[in-house]
Amino acid sequence: MITLALSKGRIFDDSLPLLRAAGIEVLEDPEKSRKLIIGTSRPDLRVVLVRATDVPTYVEHGGADLGVAGLDVLLEHAADASAGSGVALYRPLDLKIARCRLSVAVREDFDYESAVRQGSRIRVATKYTHCARQHFAAKGVHVDLIKLYGSMELAPLTGLADAIVDLVSTGSTLKANHLLEVERIMDISSRLVVNPAALKLQREPIRALIDAFEAAVNKA
Ligand code: ATP
Ligand code: MG
Repeated sequence: MITLALSKGRIFDDSLPLLRAAGIEVLEDPEKSRKLIIGTSRPDLRVVLVRATDVPTYVEHGGADLGVAGLDVLLEHAADASAGSGVALYRPLDLKIARCRLSVAVREDFDYESAVRQGSRIRVATKYTHCARQHFAAKGVHVDLIKLYGSMELAPLTGLADAIVDLVSTGSTLKANHLLEVERIMDISSRLVVNPAALKLQREPIRALIDAFEAAVNKA
């Protein structure tokens, strides 16, 4: 049995067409069912539904053989885990789904450029503390990072922070909250990750699955 970890929402929705192109139908709709383990049209492949940020952990520790996770999640996870288990995830493929970018945004009335130029300390709220720290360190900007787990947009509006580092796709959430994207840190998409031990033990079927995904990505 091969276990694929997906998260509900964007990643699940965007993975379906790739799975379908690889000849795989998922047998249940996670928005309708409460099941956390769902079968597929392939008797030897099942999907487990986990929180987006838990996908790397499942795959690393063998709770799943493969998974789909955003580059944002993978980079933060790798930074958190670097002192820990040391089990590296094999990352063979950019699936080019759930595309967005990691950006710096500020309130429309905050002069980011002069704050940077003057060398002011900037208070930055984010879920992505590792990526944010690296970005500002490389620019030589002094920041106080404030870790949040959601609704980053609220931080500058309430005075909790001057800036946020968050994912942006259309920019409509920023706009609705009178925030301005002032810097693009990196482009984000979701990646296929594989447990290296699983790849060794089930080389043929997992390799075939990776190849099928790759063909589907190239066709899309
Ligand atoms: P939760 O919503 O359960 O707190 P989450 O916010 O991490 O978890 P999603 O919002 O489903 O989960 O995001 C999952 C992944 O999809 C992210 O890690 C990122 O790679 C990608 N993603 C997030 N926001 C966007 C977006 N606006 N556009 C495109 N892709 C996005
Ligand atoms: Mg979300």
